[in-house]
Amino acid sequence: MSEGKFLHELTGSMSQGAAGNPTVAMIEAAFAHHGLHWRYVNMEVTPEDLGTAVRGAKAMGFRGFNCSLPHKVTVIPHLDGLGESAAVMGAVNCVVRRGEKFIGENTDGKGFLKSLETAIDPKGKSVVLFGAGGAARAIAVELGLAGTRRITIVNRSEARGAELVALLRDKLKLDAELAVWSGDYAVPAGTDIVINGTSIGLYAPEARLALDLNSLQPGMVVADVVFSPVRTRFLDDAAARGCRALDGLGMLVNQGIVGVQYWTGITPDAEVMRKALASAMGV
Ligand code: NDP
Repeated sequence: MSEGKFLHELTGSMSQGAAGNPTVAMIEAAFAHHGLHWRYVNMEVTPEDLGTAVRGAKAMGFRGFNCSLPHKVTVIPHLDGLGESAAVMGAVNCVVRRGEKFIGENTDGKGFLKSLETAIDPKGKSVVLFGAGGAARAIAVELGLAGTRRITIVNRSEARGAELVALLRDKLKLDAELAVWSGDYAVPAGTDIVINGTSIGLYAPEARLALDLNSLQPGMVVADVVFSPVRTRFLDDAAARGCRALDGLGMLVNQGIVGVQYWTGITPDAEVMRKALASAMGV
């Protein structure tokens, strides 16, 4: 390993191969741009081998790794500790070597927040968040930690939505409520930020979020986690109503930026990473 430090992306069997993986292209573009003699490699790890793989990464001096489904929760017992938001969420997508310890972090929500902060400071704001899955959970927790005043979770499945609301209330003492999603949802007056945290629209440019568009007011900030297409129907509709629209590619790039910052200590060039990611994704 005299060539430099290695980062190791542990992924499940559903992952793409390294050659076509946009995250690999994005992270390695940052390393190359900043003259860092580092590598980021993508490897498939089965659930049975996860503990062995983590111990192996540690033994070989890896500076960290990302992990995707199905490892985000099951990796936790193999780590030495958790960052604040990862502990609240109970999910890890980024592992960072700190001294001799492997610490689990979650960069999904942090990436979203970094992207959001280019348009608005969420402190003291009122948020409507569609969805209660992994992405929505990560976003809601980071918003809570950032001092958001109120969050309404709008979700189709009541049980899943209620679980997220209970987590926000119990662990973050947040003013959170659930709206079970049926029919077109009307965003309450006074809402500052509206977020699609569902997979609606992913690879489906015509897919429509069940939302009363007349309830969107000019000046609201509207964000989508969906990154392909970059410009979703939801964002187009919101922009046409005078809202400020933030795409999911910004979240994806920023979670990569946070990861590189954690691992290397440098702040990488965002434009270089966004270009590499967009080019690898063909968008
Ligand atoms: P999950 O499967 O964990 O959650 C999916 C969510 O979408 C649930 O709340 C689900 O509701 C809801 N949903 C899906 N289809 C419908 C529908 N037809 N009507 C109403 N609700 C629906 O997925 P993730 O949270 O992991 O991912 C969600 C999206 O976020 C994906 O598109 C993913 O690509 C994207 N993502 C983007 C990132 C980025 O950096 N930009 C990072 C991570 C994820 P219910 O509970 O009722 O099933």
